[in-house]
Amino acid sequence: MKSTSKSLVICGTDTDIGKTIVSSFFVQGLHATYWKPVQSGTDDGTDTQTVCKLLGLEKNRYLPEVYKFKAPVSPHWAAEKESQEIDPDKLIIPKRDELLIIETAGGLMVPLNRNLLQIDQLKVWDLPIILVAKTGLGTLNHTLLSLEALKKRNLNVLGIILNGLPHEDNPKTLEDFGNTQILAKLPIFSELNANVLTQEWKKQNLRKKLKEYI
Ligand SMILES: [Mg+2]
Repeated sequence: MKSTSKSLVICGTDTDIGKTIVSSFFVQGLHATYWKPVQSGTDDGTDTQTVCKLLGLEKNRYLPEVYKFKAPVSPHWAAEKESQEIDPDKLIIPKRDELLIIETAGGLMVPLNRNLLQIDQLKVWDLPIILVAKTGLGTLNHTLLSLEALKKRNLNVLGIILNGLPHEDNPKTLEDFGNTQILAKLPIFSELNANVLTQEWKKQNLRKKLKEYI
């Protein structure tokens, strides 16, 4: 069976940095399939539920999680609390014809088990990465450290998506020191729905910037 199996991985500089919104943005803009292989914290709903609800995704546009744990803590510990352990052999990228948008759990150095960090799994996948960061105070440190860790492992970082209030200096400073590009600056959306994301996608012209990878 012929399969293009193109995928982009959405990573964050921290937890709660906007990965799910950015993933939704890409799924909507590129008519892609969404996959969050490891979810920890299910009491307030899962990221998959959020994306499906926001975009009104049909069943063939998302894949179920491989691991889903109740506790809103690091995946390695959330798994242990349920007497489980994440097995990286189960995190194999599914072969699909459609573009796959993969949302990681937490930040890069979050452990998946006692021997494996999220970033080690990224190296196994070796897929193009989009790093999600905030615009404001603290982002220079978090983002430059994240970029350094990714580059040290020869991972292909396509660029950064910034979330939050516009900042006068941080985008340029991140590009200069990080030797990367800001792919898009997303505003704080007062109302979030599929249509708003479609409109934003049209403004950002990302298809052109990412054409080699999508
Ligand atoms: Mg998320």
